[in-house]
Amino acid sequence: MTIGCHLSSSKGYLSMGKTAAKIKANTFQFFTRNPRGAKAKALDPKDIQAYLEYARDHGIERILAHAPYTLNGASLDPKVREFAKNTMTDDLNRLEHTPGNCYNFHPGSHVGQGAEAGISHISSMLNGILKPELSTTVLLETMAGKGSEIGREFEELREILDRVELSDHMGVCLDTCHVWDGGYDIRDHLDEVLGRFDRIVGLSRLKAIHLNDSMNPLGARKDRHAKIGQGHIGLEAMARIINHPALRNLPFYLETPNELDGYAEEIRVLREHYR
Ligand code: FE
Ligand code: FE
Ligand code: ZN
Repeated sequence: MTIGCHLSSSKGYLSMGKTAAKIKANTFQFFTRNPRGAKAKALDPKDIQAYLEYARDHGIERILAHAPYTLNGASLDPKVREFAKNTMTDDLNRLEHTPGNCYNFHPGSHVGQGAEAGISHISSMLNGILKPELSTTVLLETMAGKGSEIGREFEELREILDRVELSDHMGVCLDTCHVWDGGYDIRDHLDEVLGRFDRIVGLSRLKAIHLNDSMNPLGARKDRHAKIGQGHIGLEAMARIINHPALRNLPFYLETPNELDGYAEEIRVLREHYR
């Protein structure tokens, strides 16, 4: 089972690798820079080299970078879109130092222009960013549909993928709290939801799972993560999710409200439920 959690990147790659190993994780997610989108720290080649060796020795085969969540490539404001594009371009260049991983981002919010206009901005941004030689797969995260967020409906994700020229560089990260809040009943109708995802987006596009319980009921469109087993989705449904044949070989990332010991405990419990 490939499982880990979101870790702070402030002390560099090697520190994240060691923290992951300490909590019995074999993957991790991290922000490429301050989540609010500030300037990124310079990369330290020695840290990266030490991390790559450490990862190889400790069974960490893949990791997931997360873009700052304040980026909005769907904005009506060209300056806001330009900032998102420049930040993501810089992130993807930096990620070539740890090649072959995934980079997840929130598609964005259309803030009143309508989903169609937002989708068109996001796709043109991606067409300006992706290059054939980049080794990172860029993931659209499924969103809860808070405010005017794009990416709640599977159809919107499909629409973006269809408009991206280098679409084979793209995938999807499914966040269990977000799809639940977005109205997809993964607790009682997991097969139906995944069937629908397969028909609209294609299960082969699915590259990562954000494993979060939800503080709110189905369809609440709130996006408040709960600890595993302490929300409306529940531990039994989480066990079905991690064991589902279409999902079980994907990497799972906890973004639950926890400190390190809480993550270690959730990883232990989930490994125990993985058959
Ligand atoms: Fe996210
Ligand atoms: Fe998430
Ligand atoms: Zn969330």
